Amino acid sequence: MPVDPVDLILYECGICDCYHPWNFCGDCRDDSNRFGSPEEYAAKMDVPDVEVRSMDDRVAADLEGENENT
Ligand SMILES: [Zn+2]
Repeated sequence: MPVDPVDLILYECGICDCYHPWNFCGDCRDDSNRFGSPEEYAAKMDVPDVEVRSMDDRVAADLEGENENT
């Protein structure tokens, strides 16, 4: 199954200092959606590397309603 490109984006959480998948908007304590490093997430997704964005990008995207998979 092809990987959705958006699944290869992480953002650096400003709350818990870990990384969450771009489309994740749940609780920081959700260990299955919390990664200590981009490398850890890349390994889980079986890709060479992933894109990392900032918490500011995440917040801005929320404000713009870009979280929809249209
Ligand atoms: Zn967090």
